[in-house]
Parts: sequence; structure tokens; C-alpha cells
Amino acid sequence: MADIIQLLPDHVANQIAAGEVVQRPASVVKELLENAIDAGASNIKLIIKDAGKTLVQVIDDGKGMSVTDARLSFERHATSKIRTADDLFQLNTKGFRGEALASIAAIAHVELKTKQENDDVGTAIVIEGSKVASQEVVVTPKGTSLSVKNLFFNIPARRNFLKSNTVELRHVIDEFQRVALAHPDLGFAMYNNGSETFNLPVSKYRQRIVNIFGNKTNEKLVPVEEDTEVLKISGFVGKPEFAKKTRGEQYFFVNNRFIKSAYLNHAIVSAFDGLLKAGTHPSYFINLMVDPQTVDINIHPTKTEIKFDDEHTLYALLRSAVKHSLGQFNIAPVLDFERDPSLDPPYTYKSGEATETPNIEVDRSFNPFQTEEKARSSGGGRAAGYKKEPAASWEGLYVGLESKGTRTQQDFSEVHFESEESTPSIFDDEKQIEQANTTYQIHNKYLVSTIKSGMLVIDQHRAHQRILYEEFLKNMTIKEAVSQQLLFPLELHLSKQEIAIIKQLEEDLVNTGFVFSKMEEESLEITGVPVSVPESEVSIILEQLISDVENEVPDSSFSATDLLAKSIAKSLAIKTGQSLKKDEQEHLVNKLFACKEPNITPTNRSTFITLSVDELDKKFI
Ligand code: ADP
Ligand code: MG
Repeated sequence: MADIIQLLPDHVANQIAAGEVVQRPASVVKELLENAIDAGASNIKLIIKDAGKTLVQVIDDGKGMSVTDARLSFERHATSKIRTADDLFQLNTKGFRGEALASIAAIAHVELKTKQENDDVGTAIVIEGSKVASQEVVVTPKGTSLSVKNLFFNIPARRNFLKSNTVELRHVIDEFQRVALAHPDLGFAMYNNGSETFNLPVSKYRQRIVNIFGNKTNEKLVPVEEDTEVLKISGFVGKPEFAKKTRGEQYFFVNNRFIKSAYLNHAIVSAFDGLLKAGTHPSYFINLMVDPQTVDINIHPTKTEIKFDDEHTLYALLRSAVKHSLGQFNIAPVLDFERDPSLDPPYTYKSGEATETPNIEVDRSFNPFQTEEKARSSGGGRAAGYKKEPAASWEGLYVGLESKGTRTQQDFSEVHFESEESTPSIFDDEKQIEQANTTYQIHNKYLVSTIKSGMLVIDQHRAHQRILYEEFLKNMTIKEAVSQQLLFPLELHLSKQEIAIIKQLEEDLVNTGFVFSKMEEESLEITGVPVSVPESEVSIILEQLISDVENEVPDSSFSATDLLAKSIAKSLAIKTGQSLKKDEQEHLVNKLFACKEPNITPTNRSTFITLSVDELDKKFI
């Protein structure tokens, strides 16, 4: 048989490599910004159009390239940054693989203009799909300008795979912010569709953070410093009371390179131990300077993961540095209100409440000779009366289960009587039917209800999400939501990007009942909210919404209306831990089964499970 193996032509190999290097416009942004930094630039400008789909351009004032280098830079494995394999362990540059420009040039229209300081003229090269279309001598300032147009023009499948502009822009901004945060000593600017999104002059680190995330950030930051032989830690953590429901503002940099590390994240979060409200995440902006020899950044193609030689020491140092800062800045005592209520003594031990213990006077009024029927149904005579006495301590036993502690003595007696009466009702047909409709709440989390074939266990939070989601979706699509006027306008301070997201969703928000009276660069004024939204929840809802847009699940198709309905439903749904009264429980169950898709949440998770009598029988074998 003939030989069948061939070497791939360069442009095909480049296209394949591009698949790994370039996933979306943001990947191009990252590579170009890093090249500019490696070139020693002090000012870097990023210009994008249509979230980078039409244009990504980076202009720097770095060292530029010679004519030969300009041409060579687009070859695969062409790099000026390493020469031998040993250099890999001494890296001081961002790039080293020499494949970014080659990959990008394989899948886009690229224009390079570059000039070195001492040259009179520079070089301009146009490359389209790996083919050099032109090369000229040009007059251009010192430094490099690289434009990447029509990304994926020759791979329609990849182009179609790109997300909405909102989502792609978010990714671009993420990359830009990461790079800008890692280099406060360089000036950055970003322009999107002709308007300035960021202008970040050279500044101190704190100022850089504030310039990116808005003025309100300043008061939230607590400095973290630690200088040891193996490592230097610097940066800021957010005060615990400003911890967010989302993980947005969490940044680690190792030797000025953004990295992700669940392990180091854990070190920081554990330093906040006991200071954070459940479900919130602290902000942090932490720089670690280590000897390049002790880290391996080469384990991940897009280089956001990293391997340290001595992770344990690093963990311990980081944790103690953060703990120290939180302590030093007196953060801890402020947070008294965040005390875990489950650590409180049961209410029966508190003064005042304890006197209620002998309050079970029900027993004394019990007269077995007067109410014959009741006596019979509860198992007979005086015995029933006595049976209730230990009930006082029974209540005590279950106090610990009430995580919210909102239940009153009366609620308990309600439960108590129900259970007392339902036992004998096994012999009573009428009552058995009644019992069939009864719901029980367990652990303030699940509702249990009986059905013909057995029982239902409903997750209260998820069930309510489904109900609200369908309601909101209906309101939005028929556009007749009712709005409640706020007595005083509500002003929210958000960052520029957050405002941009709200703008994008403005129409849908208005359809649900939001009324915006002002929308400025970093603030928002609201004068009306949907009737079902309590004023106190407004900022939480919008924050959740923004983070949902930012982290939109890659598979779902982007629909603002749908996302909004999901997001609001998630924020407003009854929480786990909330105790529900009988009628509220029943209402929830009925509403759930009136939904179009009662069995799943808007994000496709089960709202309830069923347990058939058969299954129960099996457990009793
Ligand atoms: P790498 O950054 O891994 O070396 P790239 O493909 O990103 O690979 O770049 C190839 C080479 O082109 C770099 O090593 C550098 O010499 C040169 N280069 C790229 N961008 C610039 C720039 N903005 N200024 C000066 N030189 C650059
Ligand atoms: Mg590079």
C-alpha cells in the first residue's frame, strides 16, 4: 500500500494551533496586550469594534520591530523571548511560545505597523489568512500597532459560535482589566466603537483599582503586605461587609501575570473565616512575587493556571497575611450582626422565655368525662392528658432545628396539636382525607406532601423560582407589568461596565416594571420597581442580574428577557431556611403545579422528587 502520512502545510498547522490560542476576540486582546508589555511599552491603547468581532487593535510605544523581525514575527515558533529550553525556567516575559501572531494571522486580516526608535521609517505588513498581501515602508511613530480584523473570516463555524456582543465585550473587558490591574505602572486606554471605555493613567495600585471599578471601591479596600524571603505579597482585600454575592472581583497575579487558583482562593476565603455572610465572596486584588524558578506557568495553554513548588507555604503565608490585615484594620468587631444564630443558646434558656415552660395548661383543663369523643380518639382517658406533659421538653429538643428562630411559641403548639391529633386519625376516614392534603415543612427547606402513589418532596427555593420565572416571563412578553412608584428615588452606584449591561437590558427591565430616571456613567437612579419586588431587594437583584449576564452559561442562547426573568426569580424566590406557614406551603405547592413546567427550575434542576409507596416499602424490608 502507498504511504499515506503527510506533513501539514504551515497555514493548516497554524489554523489548527489557532484553535487552541484564539477562542474569541478576548483571546486576541490578551495576546496583543501581552506582546505590547513584553515590548517594554509605557502606554498601551486598545481599540475594538463590535466587541472585537470586527476589529481588535493594540497600539503601543514599545521597542518596535526591525523589517526582518516584523516579517518573522508571523512565523510559527518565532519568538525573541526564549532561545533555549533552560530559558523557560527564567521567564520574565508574558509570551514565549511564539505562536500567537502566527495563529492570529491564520484566521483573520492582520495589519502590522512597527518602527524602532532609531529608524527613520517603519514597516507595514498586511497578512490575510497566513498569506502576505503587502509589505511596505511607512512613516509611523515608534512602537507597534497591530490590527486584527474580521476574526474567523475563513472559519465560519467558529465565527457563528461567537456569543452576543454583550458577552464577547464582557470577555474583552475582563482581559483588559486583568492586564491593567497587573501593571499599574503602565498607562492603558480602551475604546469601544469609538467611545472611551477606560482611561487609566500610570498610578499607584489602589488608584488603578479605583479607576477600573469606580470611586466607591476606595473605602472598601484593606491593604495586604507581606515580605518574606520566598515571596512578596502585596495588594488589597475587600472589607467583609462589602463581600458580593458573586465572585466577580477576585484577582490573583503571580509575577504580574493573572492566574486562577482555587487553592489560593481558599487561603483567602479561610482568612475571612466567620466574617462573611453565607453565600458571599470577598473581593481581592493580590500580587505575589516569587522567584520565576519556583513556578511553572507552562501547564496550561492559555496560561491562567500555574504550578508552585511549595504550595503549602504559600497558602499559609497568604492566609496569615490576609488575616493580619483584617485584624489590624479592625474589621472583625464591626461584624457582630453576622454572628451565626445557630450558636445562640436555645430560646428556652434565655431569660424571660424560660418562664413560659409551665405554660402548658392545656392539660389541666382537660376533662376526660366531659368530651367523650376526644378522649376516645386520643387513645383513652387520663393517659392522653398525661401524654402531653413531656411535650414541653419535646419542643425544646427541636429548637435547634429552627435556623431562623422566628417561630413563636404559638407556632410550636400548632404543630404539636396537629401531630397529636393525626395519630388517632388513622382510624378515622374523614380525617385521613384531610391529612392527604397536608404539607409539612422540614428543615425550613423541603415541603413534604402526600400524593396518591406515595409522597412528594419539594425544594421550596427551587419551586418558587419556577413560579416567579413564569410570572415574570409572562409580564415581560405581554409588556403590561405594573410598577410601584418609590417614595424616594433610589440611587445605585455601579461601575461603567455594570451600567453598560443595565443599558443593554433597559427595555426588558422597563417591561417588568422598573422605571429609571437617570443613567449616568457610574450611577443609576430608579423611581419605580415591579410590584413584586421589595425596595430593599432592588440592588441585590440588579447585582445578581449583572453577574448572570457576565457569567452567562456558554450553552444557553442569549435572550435578555429570559435571563432577566431567571435572574429576578432567583433573587426573589423564598430562600432555604425560611419557615413557611401552613397556608403559604399549600399555596406554593398549588402554584407550582399550575406552572407549565413544574418539575424543573428555569435552570433545569429538579424542583421536587417523588417517593412511591413501593420505594418506601423496599426500605422497610
Ligand atoms: P511570543 O510573544 O510568544 O514571543 P508572538 O507570536 O506573540 O510570540 O510574537 C512573536 C514575536 O513578535 C515576539 O517574540 C516579539 O519579538 C515580536 N512582537 C510581537 N508583538 C510585538 C510588539 N507589540 N512590539 C514588538 N515586538 C513584538
Ligand atoms: Mg506573544
